[in-house]
Amino acid sequence: MNPQNVTADILLQLPSWLKRFMAEEQTPLHTAEERMQLAIRLAQLNIEHRTGGPFGAAVFNMETGELVSAGVNLVIPSNCSMAHAEMIAISSAQQKLENFDLGAAGLPHLELVSSTEPCAMCVGALPWSGIRHLVCGARHEDARAIGFDEGPKHPRWVEELKHRGISVDSDICRSGAIEVLQYYSKHEGFIYNARQG
Ligand SMILES: [Zn+2]
Repeated sequence: MNPQNVTADILLQLPSWLKRFMAEEQTPLHTAEERMQLAIRLAQLNIEHRTGGPFGAAVFNMETGELVSAGVNLVIPSNCSMAHAEMIAISSAQQKLENFDLGAAGLPHLELVSSTEPCAMCVGALPWSGIRHLVCGARHEDARAIGFDEGPKHPRWVEELKHRGISVDSDICRSGAIEVLQYYSKHEGFIYNARQG
């Protein structure tokens, strides 16, 4: 432990390649499949740049198809177990829009697209984020198949989110999302669950 870090501010540093990705002009993506392909590409780039785990996520404006923010898993480089791709994408959108509530009046309806369905922590965070819609690629069991622990999710989590006004689309480009998980398993293989729970 670095004693100077004891009172450090909490700062999540985005990889430079991700900043470049966001700075490049991204044309609106009008279908769920196109948006999922972007999230899967983020997961693949995160592996290739060795900046974290095989998960990508993005927030889109549902009305225009424009990309609002992008996130990747940054648990290892940021020493932060909360730095899942979904949390990074949502936090970035909240900073960009200067609002902790992505469902606030005056904002467009926003959706979160995640290359793998969210874990217990991220599912729990969604109702507080203000997000209106969730799009998932690979399933919980696809992540578990390569060793990741998705945590104790409510068995009817999709229905629970719907009760909170968040609709869910599952299995969008699932096979492509699984390919990235398996690529990581073959080429990196480091599974960073702190504990099994
Ligand atoms: Zn998560």
